[in-house]
Amino acid sequence: MPENLSTQLKKYLPQPILKLVKDAGEKANELGQELYLVGGVIRDLLLGRANFDLDLVVEGNAIRLAQELAKGNQAKLIIHSRFGTAKINYANFSLDVATARRESYSQPGALPDVQPGAITDDLCRRDFSINAMALCLTPQRFGELIDLYHGKDDLDHRLIRILHPNSFIDDATRILRALRYEQRLGFELEARTAELLQRDAAMLDTVSGDRIRHELELILKENHPEQVLKRAEELGVINKLHSSFKSNGWLTERFEKVRQISKQTIPYPLYLCLLIYSLTNEENERFLSRLNFPKRPAQAMRHTLQLKTQLHSLAKPQLKPSDIYQSLHSYAPQAIQANALASESTIVSQHLQLYLAKLRYVKPLLNGEDLKRMGVPSGPRLGEILNVLHEARLNGEVRTRKEEERLVYSWRHTL
Ligand code: ATP
Repeated sequence: MPENLSTQLKKYLPQPILKLVKDAGEKANELGQELYLVGGVIRDLLLGRANFDLDLVVEGNAIRLAQELAKGNQAKLIIHSRFGTAKINYANFSLDVATARRESYSQPGALPDVQPGAITDDLCRRDFSINAMALCLTPQRFGELIDLYHGKDDLDHRLIRILHPNSFIDDATRILRALRYEQRLGFELEARTAELLQRDAAMLDTVSGDRIRHELELILKENHPEQVLKRAEELGVINKLHSSFKSNGWLTERFEKVRQISKQTIPYPLYLCLLIYSLTNEENERFLSRLNFPKRPAQAMRHTLQLKTQLHSLAKPQLKPSDIYQSLHSYAPQAIQANALASESTIVSQHLQLYLAKLRYVKPLLNGEDLKRMGVPSGPRLGEILNVLHEARLNGEVRTRKEEERLVYSWRHTL
């Protein structure tokens, strides 16, 4: 007799979400389809960790079911016909619905070939036993746990276990995923899984840059990414991201500081800038191109290393605010922040922080139009006067509009 978790599910899900899920099960039943809640939410339900990221899998047609569910509910439906999946966005909650599928891998690292299948097929393509459980939502079997790979036992024993010996070969991103869950949950890799992970670490070379970058992004969004990186180093995996990456006390300290200053936002780009801090420009370029980074984060990382070579010019104690502004205004803010956290020099860090907290926002009160009205002709001279005004403002030499105007009148004749 399969275990039934309906009592736990009713306690775990907030009432409105529970209702949606039950309705979905009933609707699937009407359509003659079996519906399941799958993946991370079952893991987290059993662990008592909040997770309302609900993935539904239907033995049948996900798009048809999603269309029915969205009807009359003021929900917005997003359909991905190619993947047989749909997302139903309710007012402040969403449900992902997918058709149960069977997968096969034509070659390591490639995306799998996909066909519709049963829930058992859908579970056997998953990464780890703790992520390969499902709860039935159709009314007659509501709450029935499907646990073909003993994920519940592995949760009890705090183990991360792959489902078959070729798992990392089929999809080496699971190597990074394994380390991420291990550290997030305070679990351990099951012995054979650890052995295979090390055996197959080189398979990460078969994975596209985009997919590796996505996994790195997920690692950096964890509460303590440095722990995952440290574990990746212990197991000889970190050098698959970059041959020169090291996880050490320096990085841990910096990551902690990042979290202190970031508070609410996820400091992903800043972590990246610190991660590459010890690389040479060439090494960084190899990393950027291997992981196919988009323009913005790539620029922040490049700027980080460029600014690092210029920090000596910011070490002089008597620098004027306008000098600091001139040295820094062309760099991405994350690159400046990364250098402020990385620099061993207090004075350099202070100058960088002054720029970030204050100087970058300083603007003259007068603009080009005001200057023209005051008789300054358009052209390069107007630009020069605006620059001088900006400098004076940065250095606190003018504070009011009146003072700015006085300065413009005096410079109009000298510049
Ligand atoms: P979390 O979002 O909390 O990290 P999750 O389990 O919801 O956990 P997702 O990345 O959203 O993780 O993936 C959803 C489910 O899809 C997983 O639980 C797992 O069963 C499956 N999955 C995701 N990536 C893979 C993969 N590379 N190989 C096999 N199964 C995977």
